[in-house]
Amino acid sequence: MSPNLPFQLKNPSLFKDQSLVNGNWVEAASGKRFDVVDPGSGKVWASAPDNDANDVDAAVKTAHVAFESFKKVNPRQRAQWLLKWDTLIRENRDDLANIVTYETGKPLSESQGEIDYSLGFTWWFAGEAERVTGTVNTPAAPGRRVFTVKQPIGVAAALVPWNFPIAMILRKASAALAAGCCMVIKPSPETPLSVLALSELAAQAGFPKGVLSVLTTSLENTPALSEALCRHPLIKKVTFTGSTRVGKLVAKLCADGLKKVTLELGGNCPFLIFDDADLNQALTALMGLKWRHAGQACITANRVYVQSGVYDKFAAMLKEASAKLVVGHGADKKTTMGPVTTPRSLDKALSQVEDAKKHGGQVVLGGGKVMGTSGYFFEPTIILGATKEMLITEEETFAPVLALYSFDTEGEAVAAANNTSMGLASYFFTKNIDRTWRLLENLEAGMIGMNTGNASAAESPFGGIKESGYGKESGKDVAIAEYLITKTGTLSLE
Ligand code: NAD
Repeated sequence: MSPNLPFQLKNPSLFKDQSLVNGNWVEAASGKRFDVVDPGSGKVWASAPDNDANDVDAAVKTAHVAFESFKKVNPRQRAQWLLKWDTLIRENRDDLANIVTYETGKPLSESQGEIDYSLGFTWWFAGEAERVTGTVNTPAAPGRRVFTVKQPIGVAAALVPWNFPIAMILRKASAALAAGCCMVIKPSPETPLSVLALSELAAQAGFPKGVLSVLTTSLENTPALSEALCRHPLIKKVTFTGSTRVGKLVAKLCADGLKKVTLELGGNCPFLIFDDADLNQALTALMGLKWRHAGQACITANRVYVQSGVYDKFAAMLKEASAKLVVGHGADKKTTMGPVTTPRSLDKALSQVEDAKKHGGQVVLGGGKVMGTSGYFFEPTIILGATKEMLITEEETFAPVLALYSFDTEGEAVAAANNTSMGLASYFFTKNIDRTWRLLENLEAGMIGMNTGNASAAESPFGGIKESGYGKESGKDVAIAEYLITKTGTLSLE
């Protein structure tokens, strides 16, 4: 199909709009397709195969055949393919960034930043591939030795969201491929082409056919296709990133087959600023964390708790800096904040703002949709005087809406921060070293940013606690372990 793209690709081979099964680019068995929309204009610019549950079996079975060979490939070869993939992604950074921007809406500089961050995973897991080791020990019973060996678990299914399509795939697939597993990916209906382009580069890097497969699908067919994937007997591992609501559904589907599951779920992350904080440092971190991708990151700051002594000062600093944001199409170089990715997000943001106003919240910046455009734009919005009764306290926002709460004591701040079912990331800013240690101990989250908004990297374990999920992605040993089984061998020496 010869595409008429709204942007130029230097490497046209990256425009892939068919599913990838057993190394072949294919249509859905039904022949149906669904539209891909540019959130910055609301216009359809491409389409992808609308696979349904009937398309799952062929993809999984061929992935299983590929697995039977791939598991025997030595880890250094797997690492070399990962490094080649890394190089190709680097070389095609601008093209990939364009596709990401036209699918997610985020500014081009952010799409490039996502790719740079994601390359940490290919690089890191290339190293991890060779460091998978077993153990040997001498048990209490005489005349025996006990060995453990690690083996790839089998074909994994990956269900991923739309907000960071490159990062989500590289974090999952790099670990799986390093371990010797094959993977069938179901991208979000909003971002199929980013994932397909990435998979084309995996094929160019030399990964054998069937090692990485991609089944694109529409919003309508998503539940049935996902269920068929999770229930397929040859899928031995499911890795899911997305909302807590869907994560629980996936866990239930996998429970029937007792499948190993990783769940990276919702955030609702607190951001604490104490009187003794460096307010400029806190502001820089918050500006990056909150407005990036228009607030649509799982680890974004959702609830900002500011100690009463600096509340007014910080609120004024935040308003002044945020008022300078340039909201626009992601491909426009002047843009510093793009649209939200789906119209659903606009309605949710609006309902949270209206609810906050009803509860006495003061909107000092923004507060509504940007009018006069067909793109999905929401104004950067700041609500002062937020309280625990507001919807925005309970619900993850996933839009450019920021609520500021005031607190007096550290105990009060920690209690408020932890008063949520989620536990993905927490951030705090203080120059008091004793408090730093206490907060690290007492905040209920899987990742803690201490005087920084950057709490995630390939070399550190990524994942939440409470209803933000379980299992770790990235980091030493723990992430690759999600794709391995441990086999114990007991040898008699007699
Ligand atoms: P989502 O839960 O709606 O979708 C995630 C994936 O599940 C997508 O592939 C989607 O197509 C699929 N899906 C949707 N409904 C389904 C159903 N009924 N059955 C099976 N699969 C279904 O989430 P989203 O809107 O794409 O992403 C936003 C959410 O993801 C936020 O809650 C965010 O915090 C979370 N998230 C978490 C992390 C993390 O690492 N913890 C990272 C990014 C996003």
